[in-house]
Amino acid sequence: MPGFELFGDLERKEVNDVLDNGVLMRYGFGGMRNGHWKAKELESELAKTFNSKYVQLVSSGTAAVSVALASAGVGAGDEVIMPTFTFVASFEAIMLLGAIPVLVDIDSTLTLDPKAVEASITPKTKAVMMVQMCGSMGNMDALRTICNKHNLIFVEDACQAIGGTYKGKQLGSIADVGCFSFDFVKTITCGEGGAVVTNNNQYYLNADHYSDHGHDHIGNDRGAETHPFLGYNFRISELNAAVGLAQVRRLSEFVKIQKRNYSILREALAHIPEVTFRTVPEGGEESYAFLNFFLPDLESARKVFKGFKENGIDVCFHYYDNNWHYIRKWDHLKDLKSLFPISNEVKQGLEYLKTKTFEQSDHWIARNISCLIKLSWTKEEVSVRAQKMVEIIKAF
Ligand SMILES: *Cc1c(COP(=O)(O)O)cnc(C)c1O
Repeated sequence: MPGFELFGDLERKEVNDVLDNGVLMRYGFGGMRNGHWKAKELESELAKTFNSKYVQLVSSGTAAVSVALASAGVGAGDEVIMPTFTFVASFEAIMLLGAIPVLVDIDSTLTLDPKAVEASITPKTKAVMMVQMCGSMGNMDALRTICNKHNLIFVEDACQAIGGTYKGKQLGSIADVGCFSFDFVKTITCGEGGAVVTNNNQYYLNADHYSDHGHDHIGNDRGAETHPFLGYNFRISELNAAVGLAQVRRLSEFVKIQKRNYSILREALAHIPEVTFRTVPEGGEESYAFLNFFLPDLESARKVFKGFKENGIDVCFHYYDNNWHYIRKWDHLKDLKSLFPISNEVKQGLEYLKTKTFEQSDHWIARNISCLIKLSWTKEEVSVRAQKMVEIIKAF
């Protein structure tokens, strides 16, 4: 996945354009910047890539989720449905707005189970957030139907799945508003950065203003701009945007490499009867950023994962025992360990986490092993790796 592996002359050239004139900020300073508007250019490049009307760059993927929700009007006391398996950023971004994360079971797609989503809807539910984990996706049609039926905002976090598609559409561009991260380990990196993607003009204008202190961005005198509403600073810098501009032009090249490496590993593992793969919804094509597979039970998954580690098969994850991506280890959330007081509404809203269990999610995550697909591997390296993985799994 990490685009940083192929950082090179193209990235350096874009960064040097910015260094040549020293305008490190994305807004204003038109006279000094010799025509270089890297953030703006990256936004139009991304809009083309996603075939979406609007893209707003921000400072991170976490910021993108908060800005997306805020732009759609999600705030204090609103419930946002999200999966139990995701990155901690999902609930962080929701809670930043004073909203309440409602964690819901996943299915064999490794993201939201539509049935579990529907069962969790209450009068306070405002949005449903699909997180396209590890390069693949959930059942977007089923979620769209549920959101329409209950009049909910449909949000898509495609931070880990750039380049994947569902029924011909780019992941991240399907829901009402989509979010991307360009942090250092994502398929396309800016170092730090993120994007909000939408076809909704109002959401876009809201995101544009909100991510820059509420500035309306009308005219070319920042000091004279008005503030139609309160905002914040989630701006990306020109330096970060410059790196992303070089990287996004290489997206199809990166996805092609991911697909080649993924396919070699998958074909090798597919010969083992005990190994099964995650479900990809009909009409979906993964970004191939990860290969996810299931073993028969928790014990075999733990043993195989240990075997991988001891034999140099790195960049694989057993998320059941991992602190970052699964509800089981999020004690800081369950215990609400906050530096500052949290509203009573959110405290009460999160009470359920003290007792709720997620057997269905455990069923999938306990048995799952997720292997990152690197861009720097040669075909030969992947073949050797595949053989080693097969031997380790067969030994158990
Ligand atoms: C990386 C990631 C984020 C957060 O992105 P940052 O840029 O690191 O803030 C959010 N959601 C998912 C699914 C991610 O993988």
